[in-house]
Amino acid sequence: MADEIPGAREQLARDGAWLRAQIRELAAEITPEQVPDLPERDPVVADWQEQLQYKDKVTVTVDRSAELNTPELIDRAAAWLTAAGWTVERGTIERKGRTPLLHATGIRDGFEISVRIQQGFGGVLYTGDTATRPLYELEEFVPPVPVKIAETVSDGHLLCYECVGLGWCPLCRSRGWILGASGSREQCRECHGARVCPVCDGRGELAVSALAGWERDQYPELRNQSSR
Ligand SMILES: [Zn+2]
Ligand SMILES: [Zn+2]
Repeated sequence: MADEIPGAREQLARDGAWLRAQIRELAAEITPEQVPDLPERDPVVADWQEQLQYKDKVTVTVDRSAELNTPELIDRAAAWLTAAGWTVERGTIERKGRTPLLHATGIRDGFEISVRIQQGFGGVLYTGDTATRPLYELEEFVPPVPVKIAETVSDGHLLCYECVGLGWCPLCRSRGWILGASGSREQCRECHGARVCPVCDGRGELAVSALAGWERDQYPELRNQSSR
């Protein structure tokens, strides 16, 4: 594991405390009889980039009778968020076969707070997310050394044609994931997370006697003596 970035975890804790205070102030305004307890929680991974991005996340539903859940509540949430300096989006989340959700969402410096209700149903959902930040230094990935090289290959064996002795998956080189086009981690499409080479299963070498004909074709030195 990489080293922690000095102060990053403390900053995220401060961000989380501020976010919780904002949600409690908002709740005190729009559901004053139901201001939720918001205990501290561990950061979660928000974005699976090469350098993982973390955030603190709040999700809480407060009890409230259905009759009180009117669009006016969302109006008041939007007004409070605007007055507190948040940029507010509001609208309706349609869901097939279900009553739409009404929401007001505030965005500010990468933070987000949202209030949602479902008309005709009780309960108010508060959610919040801090801005994301890395907690660990970015370490340069050092691929593992090959498990077999030409000098160490066993008698009657050849280096695996797929990984050339690496033993580990040659695409992700033992990580089990690769970076997708979006810059986020995706499961390796060659080993599907198994991390080892799918052809030699991590051995780095293959027994010549066990090679199928098409596998023998991977080796120029065997082509003249094909078993087919
Ligand atoms: Zn892989
Ligand atoms: Zn292999």
